[in-house]
Amino acid sequence: MHAREPDAMEHFEIAVVGAGLAGSLAALTFADKGRSVALIAPAAGRADGRTTALMDQSLDLVRELGLWQAVAPLAAPLSSMRIIDGTKRLLRAPTVTFHAAEVGLDAFGYNIPNAPFLALLEQEAEKRSSLTRIVASLTEVEFETERAILKLEDGRSITASLVIGADGRKSGVREAAGIEVRNWSYPQSALVLNFSHQVSHQNVSTEFHTAHGPFTQVPLPGGLRSSLVWVQRPEDTEAMRSLSLDDLSLAVERRMQSMLGKVRVDVAPQAFPLSGMSAKSFGKGRVILIGEAAHAFPPIGAQGLNLSLRDIMAAVSLLGSSSVPDDFGARYDLQAARGYSQPHRQRRSAQSFAAVGFPAGADAARRRPSGLGERRPPAQSNDARRHQSRQRPAIPA
Ligand SMILES: Cc1cc2nc3c(=O)[nH]c(=O)nc-3n(C[C@H](O)[C@H](O)[C@H](O)COP(=O)(O)OP(=O)(O)OC[C@H]3O[C@@H](n4cnc5c(N)ncnc54)[C@H](O)[C@@H]3O)c2cc1C
Repeated sequence: MHAREPDAMEHFEIAVVGAGLAGSLAALTFADKGRSVALIAPAAGRADGRTTALMDQSLDLVRELGLWQAVAPLAAPLSSMRIIDGTKRLLRAPTVTFHAAEVGLDAFGYNIPNAPFLALLEQEAEKRSSLTRIVASLTEVEFETERAILKLEDGRSITASLVIGADGRKSGVREAAGIEVRNWSYPQSALVLNFSHQVSHQNVSTEFHTAHGPFTQVPLPGGLRSSLVWVQRPEDTEAMRSLSLDDLSLAVERRMQSMLGKVRVDVAPQAFPLSGMSAKSFGKGRVILIGEAAHAFPPIGAQGLNLSLRDIMAAVSLLGSSSVPDDFGARYDLQAARGYSQPHRQRRSAQSFAAVGFPAGADAARRRPSGLGERRPPAQSNDARRHQSRQRPAIPA
């Protein structure tokens, strides 16, 4: 990546605003298609302690970018998904385990820590000569018929034929384009943390369904570390956050019935309210929105970035090799509304990978993800069919 001073009013075909996972991957993808791309964002702040489970088609994009060899050592395969009824009901659903091998896959997806993934994207981007990294915040965008003018915090300006808003949930690009949002929330919050454990996870992710929400352990690389998203009532989340790390470790171990042996939480957990947001339009004029600028989900169901990568692929395929039309944003929005075509393999995974609520396309976000926490069983698994008849959505829609 060329972190350099842009020339006065330098013109780029595409300006990506925001260098989180969504913006960085979008910038790389468009640069690989031969577009001149500016990637605008301030220097990264504190390290992102979250992890992201990427599924089937998202991994295809990572492979197409030539990144898989470098990403694989950072990632843990999700080979099996186990669902346990963790309620105290008298009659409980039997435990079911879905194996990726049942649907002909090595893994349902891979869990990747965000911080090294972002660092890798930054390094990889250095190899793209058509990508210019501009280390600054955007302060203003003006839209003209032929171009957009982007003003930076230090007084510099550039122009672009297309602006990709990847500047997160509070997107300034979205606001400048006059695109409104819809917000919703659930009476729950999620405690998010990483932990080490004595017994190997063997690449199995386990989800306990509790009275107040799912408790989901997801493997991290190396066998003896996992990430956790624990959905509870907000007051219970706050109570957990106030515990010492020793007491929190014990609470996690007990909740998991010690299935991974002794647990050690070594960094204070984060908490996220279970809320969502969707832009009322995903594009307009010379702007499109991707990532959390377009749609933000509660941290369950591995939806956010997977959906964003599909947005990126949709934008790339819609633009093809043509120059950017002045109504590209509206065309992109229309495509998102219709739902873009999905390869057969993706649809099969959507049916079979119930436990992570596989994303259903950008149009799903527009329709409001009432299926969050919805569980659909693998077509091939009798176990799963039996389980479905007993199971209720973990999170009320
Ligand atoms: C706990 C948790 C777990 C998750 N797990 C998963 C998962 O398993 N699978 C999955 O698919 N998704 C998951 N997600 C969602 C996923 O993390 C996000 O979709 C993903 O990080 C993409 O975010 P983003 O790049 O859109 O936004 P952000 O990461 O918020 O990045 C926004 C960028 O915009 C920049 N920016 C902001 N304002 C400006 C400005 N004015 N000028 C220039 N730049 C600006 C910021 O500096 C930053 O670089 C999870 C989310 C959470 C909270």
